[in-house]
Amino acid sequence: MFDKVLIANRGEIALRIHRACREMGIHTVAVHSTADADAMHVRLADESVCIGPPPAKDSYLNIPAIVSAAEITNADAIHPGYGFLSENAKFAEIVEAHGLVFIGPTAEHIRLMGDKIAAKATVRGLGVPCVPGSDGPVADAAEARRVARDIGYPVMLKAAAGGGGRGIKVVQDEAALEPAFTLASQEAIAAFGNGALYLEKFLVRPRHIEIQVLGDGKGTAVHLGERDCSLQRRHQKVLEEAPSPALNDAERARIGATVAKAMATLGYRGAGTIEFLYDGAFHFIEMNTRIQVEHPITEMITGIDLVREQIRIAAGASLSFGQEDVRFAGHAMECRINAEDPETFAPSSGVVTRYHAPGGLGVRVDSALYGGYRVPPHYDSLIAKLIVHGRTRNECIMRLRRALDEYVADGIRTTIPLHQRLVRDPDFANGNYDIARLERFMERAKSGA
Ligand code: ADP
Repeated sequence: MFDKVLIANRGEIALRIHRACREMGIHTVAVHSTADADAMHVRLADESVCIGPPPAKDSYLNIPAIVSAAEITNADAIHPGYGFLSENAKFAEIVEAHGLVFIGPTAEHIRLMGDKIAAKATVRGLGVPCVPGSDGPVADAAEARRVARDIGYPVMLKAAAGGGGRGIKVVQDEAALEPAFTLASQEAIAAFGNGALYLEKFLVRPRHIEIQVLGDGKGTAVHLGERDCSLQRRHQKVLEEAPSPALNDAERARIGATVAKAMATLGYRGAGTIEFLYDGAFHFIEMNTRIQVEHPITEMITGIDLVREQIRIAAGASLSFGQEDVRFAGHAMECRINAEDPETFAPSSGVVTRYHAPGGLGVRVDSALYGGYRVPPHYDSLIAKLIVHGRTRNECIMRLRRALDEYVADGIRTTIPLHQRLVRDPDFANGNYDIARLERFMERAKSGA
């Protein structure tokens, strides 16, 4: 096992990785920008190295600085967390070229799944159901028109190199296709340096359901059930739950087995998430080759520490359990709490003057906040994840309401009030929602209806 791991991230996920390391008897090295000198992940780690000024491109994305930090501290491995360099195949290669272990999949698998067109073709070949659409990139608007006629409107144009909900356009009819195609390819070049587009059938009000997998890189893979991430704003997840209120045990076992088999065949190593849209049938949209923000809800219903498993696998161990050992117990939900105005979603930064996190049975808070902490303006607005577990979905909802009402983070704006309203919504309580639900809910709240 490793003696020392460098954590190439910040905020709650840096803390999350530190905690797993500590419980495994592994020393930790934090890296930080000058804006994060007082951050919790720096305070808790055994050692820390300043890797640059506040802008992420000069610090958390600064590959030479991070690799040097690992070398001078004698770290054995680097955990990238999520975001930043976590799905950067080049980074994984450079890390390994320096004799360090990258805690994640092979560079080859990161690259494959990072190209959404190649990813789709690969998993389709492995028996995973996909959204109907172009089988590869569409060369021009004329080809897009032919494919769209074939699959029927509405359709979605997506950037092959897209991510984080960006580079996606819905096209309602043929008249709108050509202008949308031109705009989308220009935007994709500007945003991702790659203008390739593909086309998919636009599914009207599906759910977003994703399957967590772990592979040992030696041909064994297991699934840990699903997460329902349908509650989204602008294609970004807001509240997630596991299990999904829309699936029964047989459906879960079936899609889980399909995905685990595909990942075993691929020889996938580490933690991964296969994302689907679900409208009674599953349609693959993409695979994420990293630990995800919402991984704790899976941990809460399985009792399996996903970050610990990532580290064990990276150290060359086999999985510590088999599929038949995975048992699902109870229900879990996660609220993503952002430093944002709950009405306008404008980012909010500044000093957290008073801080009190909720507690009690079944309540987990993954956050790097503390009283007196200054939320810097330079990074993602996610500041806390409130995760609750209950024996039943109803118990989980009551606990989540209670925990949200206890949460105090004064001095900055947060999205806690949005969650407080959302968890009291009757459609949420019934589990009756889809990916368009949250935006409808917010519009209704705005108009006072
Ligand atoms: P990204 O990598 O940018 O997150 P995804 O392909 O995962 O992009 O899609 C993000 C979100 O966009 C999905 O969760 C869903 O809400 C919506 N979406 C994607 N594809 C479709 C589709 N074919 N039909 C309807 N909605 C879609």
